[in-house]
Formats: sequence, C-alpha cells, structure tokens
Amino acid sequence: MSDIDIRVTGRAGRITLTRPSALNAMSYDMCMAIDAALRNWREDDAVDLVIFDAEGDKAFCAGGDIAELYDTGTRGNYEYGRTFWRDEYRMNALLFEYPKPVVSFLQGFTMGGGVGIGCHGSHRVVCETSKIAMPENGIGLVPDVGGTLMLALAPGRLGEYLGLTAGRMGPGDAIFAGFADHYIPRDIWGDLIAMLEASGDASHVETHAQPATDSTLEAQMPQIDEAFGGESLGDILNTLRTLDSDFAADTLKTMSRISPLSMACTIEMLRRLRGPSLTIRKALELEYRFTYRAMEHGDFLEGIRAQIIDKDRNPAWQFADQNVPVAAVSKMLQPLGKDALSFEEEKQGMKIGFIGLGNMGGPMAANLAKAGHDVTGFDMADVAIDGVSMADSAAAAAAGADVVITMLPNGQILRAVAADVIPAMAAGAALVDCSTVDVDSARAVDADAAAAGLLFVDAPVSGGIGGAAGGTLTFMAGGSADAFAKAEPLFDVMGQKAVHCGDAGAGQAAKICNNMILGVTMIATCEAFALADKLGLDRQKMFDVVSTSSGYSWTMNAYCPAPGVGPQSPADNDYTPGFAADLMLKDLRLSQQAAESADADTPMGQLAQALYAQFVEGEDGAGKDFSAMLPRFEKRGRE
Ligand code: NAD
Repeated sequence: MSDIDIRVTGRAGRITLTRPSALNAMSYDMCMAIDAALRNWREDDAVDLVIFDAEGDKAFCAGGDIAELYDTGTRGNYEYGRTFWRDEYRMNALLFEYPKPVVSFLQGFTMGGGVGIGCHGSHRVVCETSKIAMPENGIGLVPDVGGTLMLALAPGRLGEYLGLTAGRMGPGDAIFAGFADHYIPRDIWGDLIAMLEASGDASHVETHAQPATDSTLEAQMPQIDEAFGGESLGDILNTLRTLDSDFAADTLKTMSRISPLSMACTIEMLRRLRGPSLTIRKALELEYRFTYRAMEHGDFLEGIRAQIIDKDRNPAWQFADQNVPVAAVSKMLQPLGKDALSFEEEKQGMKIGFIGLGNMGGPMAANLAKAGHDVTGFDMADVAIDGVSMADSAAAAAAGADVVITMLPNGQILRAVAADVIPAMAAGAALVDCSTVDVDSARAVDADAAAAGLLFVDAPVSGGIGGAAGGTLTFMAGGSADAFAKAEPLFDVMGQKAVHCGDAGAGQAAKICNNMILGVTMIATCEAFALADKLGLDRQKMFDVVSTSSGYSWTMNAYCPAPGVGPQSPADNDYTPGFAADLMLKDLRLSQQAAESADADTPMGQLAQALYAQFVEGEDGAGKDFSAMLPRFEKRGRE
C-alpha cells in the first residue's frame, strides 16, 4: 500500500507512514495493515522490537482519515464509522498490551488517531517540533483511541483541561502529561533507528535521550487544578467564571468553540475511569459507547462540517448554552449490550445464576443477558426479565453457574438464600452478593462459601435504580483477589466502576460508611436550606454560593433537595424516591449496628438515624425520597 510501508529490517519490525501530503492521516486500510503486522510480529522470534515513524516534517500522524466517515455518515450509513472505530480500538489495545518494545518517533503533529499508534508503545520519542493533542471535542467527538486512559492518568486535572480545550502539548508538556517518554533531537533519529534495527535493543533510546524543554503546562498546574476540579461541565464553567484571570478568560473562550455535549461526556468518562481498576480495555470500551452513537446522536457530523468541509468554523452544537443535562450524558455513555466493544482474547458468555430480580436485580440481570451472558434467574415474586430464563428455585438457578449473584432485601434473607444455593454450586464458582446487608451476614456467608470450596464477594452498589438500568453502578467489593477477579468482568457490564476494598465484609463496610456520610450530609444540606429560608436568602443564590464553596457536597451539587434549584433531582418530582427515606434508614441502622459492635463513636450517624427513624416511622417520610427532609425542616421551628 502506498500510504504505509511495512517491512522487517534487521531485528526490527518497521512501520512507516508514507502519506505526508495528508499529514499522514490514518485510513481504515492503514489501520488494518498495522493490526496485521503487529499480530504477525508478536509471535515472530526474528522481530525483537517494533519501530513506528513517518515521512515528512509536519506530522507523524494528524489523526484518523475522517473524509470517508463524514461521507458515509451524512448518507445515514453509521455502520462504516462503527466498524472503523471498533477495529481501530482493537488495534490500539493490541499495541498498548504488546509484549515487545514499541518505539515511536513523533515529529510535528501527533493528534487523535495518531496518538492511538504513536503514544501507546513502550518508548515514545519527541523532538523540537513535536505537537501532541487530543482535539476530538472540537469536532463533536470525545478523546478516543485510548486517549481517555492517558488523560485520566495525567497529573491532577490536566486530563480534563487537555480534553476540554483540545490543548496542544510541546515536547516538554507531552512528557509531563505522560504522552511521551524521551526527548531526542530529530537530527539523530536516523542513526538511532539504524542502531535499533541492527541490535533489536530498545535501551539505545534511553541512552540517546536528552533533557526536554520546560513544560509550560507544569507551570500552569495550580490554575488548572483550581479551575478543573469540578465534577461536571457546569461545575467547571462556574469556577472559571468566578476566577478573575487571563487563564480563566482564555480557557472560557476556547471552550465556547467546543461541543458542550462532548465536553460534558469527556468529564464524565475521566471521572469514571480514574482509579485503580483503570485498563486500556475499559477506556476503549467506554469511548466506543460514545463514538458508536456519535453520528446519530452526537455533534460529530456537524463538527466535521463546520471545521473541515465548509470550514465556516461556526458549528450549530446541541446544548449551545453549555447546560448539558445529566440524562444527555448518560444516553451517550450507556452500555451497548450486544454491540459493546469486545476484544478477541476475551472469554465471552459466562453462565450466571441471578437471585432477587426486584427494582435493582431485574435491570442488572437484563444488562448481563444483553452483554451475551447466559443468565438464569429466580425470584419469590412472579417476574419476567428480558433475556433471562427463569428457574423454579434458587438452587436450580445456581446449579452449574460460574457465578451466582444475589440482590436481596436484607442479611437474614441473604443467609437463607445462601444456605440453599451454596450446596448447589460447583467448587471454584463464585457467589457475589450485591445487596446492602450487615457486615456480619456478609462474613458468615463468606465462611460458608469458603467451606464449600467457593469464592465469595460482597459487592454492594451505589447508583440506585437509574444506575442499575443504565449499567453505571459503582461496586464496592470485599473478598479475595481471585474472587474479585472472577466477578470483575460482570461488574464492568453492570457498572462504571468497581473498587476492591479488602477482605470479605469490606464492601459492606465501605457501603455503610458511605451512606452514613450521605445521610448526615443530606440532613445538613436540608437544614441549611431551611435556615437560609428563614434568613431571607434566595435558594438559588444559596446554591450558587455553596455549590462552589467549601460547603459543597454530592447532596448539594448533584442531588439538590430544593425543587427548581441545581440539576434535576427527586425534589423536582415531588420527592418521588430515587433513593427512599426508608432505605436510608435501613442503611443508617446498619451503620450504627456496625459502630456498636466495633465500639466506634459515631454521634452524627446516630443522630441521622434517629432523625430518619422519626421521619419514616413517626411522620410522613415513608415512601418519599430521602431528600424530603427539606420540606420537613421547612415546617418546623426551633424547639
Ligand atoms: P426490591 O425489593 O425491589 O427487590 C428485592 C427482590 O428480592 C424482590 O423482587 C423480592 O421478591 C426478592 N426476594 C425476596 N426474598 C427472596 C428469596 N428468599 N428468594 C428470592 N427472591 C427473594 O429491592 P431493591 O430496590 O432491588 O434492592 C435490593 C437490594 O439493593 C437491597 O439490599 C437494597 O438496600 C440495595 N440497594 C437498593 C438501591 C435502590 O435505590 N433501590 C440502591 C442501592 C442498593
């Protein structure tokens, strides 16, 4: 192919992009040629390392070749783009996980798709002219080709800044941000490549490295962290608007040209990915959820039209006022079911037993079935769940399963169900309890499972019924490393994040500690609003101040208990439960039961429990959302 030169020279597999007139933009054919070469060389003993470079001075690779994507997309054919992105991302993962050294030489522009081949290897070399960027937000896409992994791993909130502003990094910046490893002047690349070819020894790269130029981004980090610390696009814009600096003004100006939907999704993606369980596959899988929908529901086609086809630089973005509803972000990032990005080596389709198919368990089981797992369910009630075949007992659902999941009302019921299913399970299988129960029940079931040669994980969730349906739950898991590893691929389907908190019981411990904070903070937020009312302070002003001041919290910023203020929440729906006050009371009781047995002093938790008990059992709180504490405080005076 004339756009790419693939060969073996000496001990090196060589991939040279030979399309300098198009800034070496990568076409689908080039992508597939790289994929095939990498697969061949992976097992080939004659190849010790792989070298990527490119002809021309202006660019290593300025991105993916989007002309064809635009052409097919505007004709209503979204499948071409989906196939391009799917196969490109598989190649990106292959490169990232490559078992041999990969050396890349990145002169001029390396952007978007270029980052996906240039910045995933083991030795990434920059020079005087290097300019690296993830500019996708500017064309209505999100950073992809694994770019969200690199942005999530960048220092502080630099990832948000670079993703949202499409900022370009010089050589020093690229090394600081983790997109490159070594600075080597361009005039010695030729000799170095010859040495690598002859020896097959990548350590020559390190010995030729020189100190890079200073990073301007490093110097800006205090400003970047201050401005981009928020949890959402709204938070970040609010902060930037209150900062009186050239940096804030320039950044706001740049962001005014960029797709609001893409920016909001990028922040959410980085928030989900950041953490110890981040892998390239998780990042690519999440990116694919967006790109799969980018033409049909996103701003991608409009972005390409404005920037590249008509060049009017005046895109008609959705949500042009920069207020992007949470629901619009969720819609772009919800799981793709059977269309989800998969990787060839992955084992597909576990056999799963699912017991307890209520508000939470039902949609969780449906998501597992949609992802291609073989799910057999059981519930005391007569329920039917899409894609799930029903058994007539818990033991029958558990027989022969690789993993049995329970999602039940309380610890007593969990113990009873576990006594039925453990004898029916095969040794080596895993029992995963996702209910919220007391720590003692979790540990008791763990002991019974271990005695039967089974793995056990207690993995309660946060995220509510919306998270269960959208596959965006957070799992907090306790159990052995082996048990967690077995359950993790299923957590990836049902949720956005799973944290392995420690041994059995640690998941429940994390859950009740989290919910104790949540209960206490909700009460604090509600009583502060009621006080503000009595002091004559406008609720919106109160929100504007607190949501960007030291009193901010999830209950204020994301789940505001005051109707008509902040993002949509149950308060705007007459306090119909997202998370019922009764369930909060249950969790606070679990926290106080645990505090009692661990001899921990938790006066605020105790008071929160007493207040929710009074609200649910002595007043009108039963059946209402837990944020309905605000109207309760509103009506009361000081006693
Ligand atoms: P739910 O009452 O809707 O579902 C529980 C299901 O378990 C019901 O369908 C019930 O019929 C079934 N069940 C009860 N006993 C059974 C048995 N012996 N065998 C088989 N099935 C049995 O409750 P939910 O809202 O789905 O909550 C389930 C768990 O998740 C609870 O522990 C809850 O605290 C926790 N949780 C709920 C939320 C939420 O927002 N709803 C959020 C996080 C955690």
